[in-house]
Amino acid sequence: MQQALKAFIELFSLSAMRYFVVAGIPFIVCYKLLNNWLSQSKIQDREAAKKDFIREILYSVQTTAILTVIGFTVLYTPVKNITRVYTSLSDYSIIWLLVSVALALVIHDTYFYWMHRLLHHPKIFNYTHLLHHKSTNPSPWASYSFHFFEAWTEGAALLVVVTILPMHPIAIGLFILSSFIINVYGHLGYEVAPLWLRKTIFFEIFNTSVHHNLHHSKFKGNYGLYLRFWDRVMGTEHPDYVKEFDRIQQNRLNAKIKQNVVSQAS
Ligand SMILES: [Zn+2]
Ligand SMILES: [Zn+2]
Repeated sequence: MQQALKAFIELFSLSAMRYFVVAGIPFIVCYKLLNNWLSQSKIQDREAAKKDFIREILYSVQTTAILTVIGFTVLYTPVKNITRVYTSLSDYSIIWLLVSVALALVIHDTYFYWMHRLLHHPKIFNYTHLLHHKSTNPSPWASYSFHFFEAWTEGAALLVVVTILPMHPIAIGLFILSSFIINVYGHLGYEVAPLWLRKTIFFEIFNTSVHHNLHHSKFKGNYGLYLRFWDRVMGTEHPDYVKEFDRIQQNRLNAKIKQNVVSQAS
């Protein structure tokens, strides 16, 4: 019992550290240190309020606790027997370990899209997902800012993934970490994607920060998490998405050109 409690506390500390480090560093860099330099990358003109940050952090800590309960259940209770989690690294190849992370993200994207659409149902929205949408101008702190009920549905994604895919705890850790990093990028409030991205296939496949920011400012459309796939198939991608992305990137390009002219003149 004492050992289980120790494992739970360790898992929670690790999860909380992940939240504060992965969300905190981009927040300090974009909102405090380089906010002037990055002003052309800012997606919305208005500033997010301090009270939003506090609400987002408090709910994210609650979500972290709920996700820890789910992670603990998967790794340390008999529930593990109904999952395909394996603990001996020699059971599968190292290549599979990495492939399983990529596949987990694809499965999670599908799970998230449909769960997210359901949470936007008018009969459910006010009791669950409205809390996340209080952040109409999201910051990295909003990444885990979910209502108590929504946090369970978000965390259940892990159960779905590990009942489908054989995954080692290292792969689970990599999946959760990469998922959170992408989530923070989606809520960053700044578009930091390189300018060359637009002309590549990656822009057609993956979401950007503008993509999820539009979901927060407009409430409708852009329900996907990592990929544009489901929004395009289901016709739910916001019609202004590409235009808005191009507007921000053009502003960044103009600022870069101006900067070059100034430095050449001086
Ligand atoms: Zn939503
Ligand atoms: Zn969001």
